[in-house]
Amino acid sequence: MVRSVRCRAGVRVGLATLAVAALASGCSERDAPVPPAPGQQLGQAPAARALDSYATRLRASYAARVAAARRWGLKQVPLTPPKPPAVKPRITARPGFEVSRQKDWYLPPVFTTVPTEDKVVFLTIDDGAEKDPAFLRMMSDLKIPYTAFLTDYLIKDDYAYFRKMQASGVTLNNHTLHHPYLPGLSYEQQRREICDMQDIMEDQFGKRPKLMRPPYGNYNQDTLAAAKACGIEYAPIWNEEVFVDHWEFREDDQRLRRGDIVLTHFRGRKEWNGTMADDMRRFLNYVTAKGFAVARLEDYL
Ligand SMILES: [Zn+2]
Repeated sequence: MVRSVRCRAGVRVGLATLAVAALASGCSERDAPVPPAPGQQLGQAPAARALDSYATRLRASYAARVAAARRWGLKQVPLTPPKPPAVKPRITARPGFEVSRQKDWYLPPVFTTVPTEDKVVFLTIDDGAEKDPAFLRMMSDLKIPYTAFLTDYLIKDDYAYFRKMQASGVTLNNHTLHHPYLPGLSYEQQRREICDMQDIMEDQFGKRPKLMRPPYGNYNQDTLAAAKACGIEYAPIWNEEVFVDHWEFREDDQRLRRGDIVLTHFRGRKEWNGTMADDMRRFLNYVTAKGFAVARLEDYL
């Protein structure tokens, strides 16, 4: 007897390949009945034993995710993202978001959504005012990837907090020194805001970021030229913003799209009526209910 499950575009897979398919194709765990069919484990060939131990590990890691989701008060277990694409999507400026000479000068593209067929969104978190240890534990425990955009004046009292974040696999990126309205500044002032932040990031975290997000999502040609001059390749903004008590969508239809970049902020009870963990619960409960997994932005660039 071969049981099968329906994954994605109606592809039927036999149970023997189920464990692999569940990881590789973006099938959700909820679709995957974990117990094997009768007789499935009886073969003692090395390949069968290897598959069995792989399935066992998969079950154990899923059990850990169920437990983590329960610990952090989520309504559902977050979906596992598919493997990062081997061929990266071509990222261009979102139509209407280009500056003049965008293409001739190879300026970093401003975009809100990554072109992908994967049912994923990307979580990005800005500024750095709130430094909540519980937030770091929650995200590591749940294995949710995200990308941070940091502003020096908000993080300089505790660079160590962000080093811990980086050690957990998070990429730290440039969100300027002082969070100004960049189009109000000269080219030279903008260059200082962006390039001097690159230097600080290299000193404090050992890497010069490739991503820069202009504060408030406001920029002009000088912004992108200055960013390029100090090594920035992409200027992602966002298509949705999550607050502790509501969502704001850029699109009129108020719905998530594949590849959308979602923004939230490092803010806590001082600014918001809730903690970072509350904010993440709102985010994760919503995206999971809509059938999206959270993937790592850098894996698609
Ligand atoms: Zn900001």
